[in-house]
Amino acid sequence: MFDYATVSHGLYVGGRWQPSSEGRVIEVVDPSTEAVIAVVPDATLADAAAAVNAASKAAAGWRETSPRRRSEILRRCFELMTERAEILAALISLENGKALRDARSEVAYAAEFFRWNAEEAVRISGEFGLAPSGANRNCVLITPWNFPAAMATRKIAPALAAGCTVILKPASETPLTAYALAALYEEAGVPPGVVNVLTTSTPGPVTAAMLADPRVRKLSFTGSTGVGRVLLAEAAKHVISCSMELGGNAPFIVFDDADLEAALDGAMVAKMRNAGEACTAANRLYVQAGIHDAFADGLRKRMAALNVGAGTHTETECGPMITSKAVNKIDRLVQDAVVRGAKVLCGGAIAEGKGYFYPPTVLRDVSADAAMMHEEIFGPVAPIMRFDSEADAIARANDTEYGLAAYIYTRDLAKGMRVASKIESGMIALNHGLMSDPAAPFGGVKQSGLGREGGQKHGVAEFMEAKYIAVTL
Ligand code: NAD
Repeated sequence: MFDYATVSHGLYVGGRWQPSSEGRVIEVVDPSTEAVIAVVPDATLADAAAAVNAASKAAAGWRETSPRRRSEILRRCFELMTERAEILAALISLENGKALRDARSEVAYAAEFFRWNAEEAVRISGEFGLAPSGANRNCVLITPWNFPAAMATRKIAPALAAGCTVILKPASETPLTAYALAALYEEAGVPPGVVNVLTTSTPGPVTAAMLADPRVRKLSFTGSTGVGRVLLAEAAKHVISCSMELGGNAPFIVFDDADLEAALDGAMVAKMRNAGEACTAANRLYVQAGIHDAFADGLRKRMAALNVGAGTHTETECGPMITSKAVNKIDRLVQDAVVRGAKVLCGGAIAEGKGYFYPPTVLRDVSADAAMMHEEIFGPVAPIMRFDSEADAIARANDTEYGLAAYIYTRDLAKGMRVASKIESGMIALNHGLMSDPAAPFGGVKQSGLGREGGQKHGVAEFMEAKYIAVTL
C-alpha cells in the first residue's frame, strides 16, 4: 500500500510548498472505501495571483534556458517517473480507484510525454522562424481526475519544451499525484516557478482571475464539454489562445467480417480501460446483424468474469468509480435504457456496500433515443446495438455532437479506410482497441474540442506563436 503521508500536500508555488492563504482545505477520498485519505490546500484568489507572479518571474530564465538544457531536464523527468513507476501507480490507484494495471499503464504513458517532448524540444525550428526559444507564455493548465498523471504531463511536457511556464490546476478528487509529480520535476531540475500547482474548490473564480491577468496567454483544458464551453467564453474576454480536450461518445463498429476474438479483445480495452472512465471509452457498440449475437454473448462472458474491487488490490480488473455521484449517473443511464427496451445481459444495478462500485454491465437492443446514446456513460457499461448496412453504421456513429474517438473492426481494410474517412472523429482506431500514444496527435472535432496534444509538432505547437519579423539590414 502506498504511504500517502510521504506526498507533499502544500500548494506548490514558486518552488515552495505552502498552505492556502485562508487556511482552507479540500478532503481527498479513497473511492473504494469512502475514507478520507488526505487533505490538500484550497487555493484562493490571492494564491492564484501568487502562482501567476511566480510563473511570470520564472519565465525569463526558462525562456533563456537553451533547448538542449530544457530537453535534458525533461528527459530526467521521464527517467525519475520511470524509476518511481510503482510508487506513482499505487498513488494513482489509491486516489482515483483505477486498477493497478491501469495505473501502471498510465504512468508509462504519462512519463512518455517527457521523453517524447525532450526529443521535440531541440527540434523546434524552421516554420517558427527565428530562434528555437521563441515562446514565453504563462499557461494555465486544467486537468480532470480520470488520468491524474497523464493529463498533466501531456500538457506540462510540451509547454516546458516550448519554453513556457505553467500553473496546473488538477482535479480536486485526485490532487496527490499532481503534487507528487511536482516534487519529482523539482528533483529533475525544473527551476522554481516554472511549474506551479494549485488545488481549489472554487475553480471558476480562481481560473477567471488568472485568465484576466495579461501575463497569462494560454489556457489548456482537459475535461467535460460543459466546463470547456464556460472556459472558452471566459478566455474570449481576454482573447486567450485555448486548447480544449473535451468529452467523447465513441462508437465501436464491428462488421460481420471482423475477427470476432480480436473485436472482443479490442472492445474490452476500449470499454474497460480505467473501468470505462476514459474520454476515448467505447460508449456505443454497433455490431452488424450476422455477428451480433456471438459478439454480445462473448462480451457478456468477458465482462461478467472481471474481478471488481479496490484498485490497489493486485487482482482487481475493475475498480470503483470516482464518486457516488458518478455511480448514480451511470445507474440513471442504465435504468433509462432499460425503460426504453434494452435487455440486461449482466450487471445493471448499483452494488451493495461501501465504495463507489458499479458492476461491469452489458446491455443489448438499446434504443437510439436512450440517454446513454448521447451522454458519456463514463463507467463499465457496454450498450450493444444491431446494424445492417455500412451506411447505417456510419450515420448512427455520426449521430452525436461529439467527435473524439471511434473504433472499427473489419478484415476488409478498404472498407475500414472508407468508413474511417466518413466518421466525424479526431481519432480512429482500425482493428485496434487503444489509440493513446504520445507520438500521435490526440484530440477531437465537433464538441470534443479544439487543438491536439502530442504528436510530431502538434503538441509543442499548441504552446507557441508564429512571429514574423521583416528586417532591413
Ligand atoms: P470536469 O469538466 O468536471 O472537470 C475538469 C477540470 O475542470 C477539473 O480540474 C475541475 O475542477 C475543473 N473545473 C470545473 N469547473 C470549472 C470552472 N468553472 N472553471 C475552471 N475549471 C473548472 O471533468 P471531469 O469530471 O474532471 O473529467 C471527466 C471529463 O473529462 C469527461 O467529459 C471526459 O470525456 C473528459 N476528458 C477528456 C479528455 C480528452 O483528452 N479529450 C481526457 C480525459 C477526460
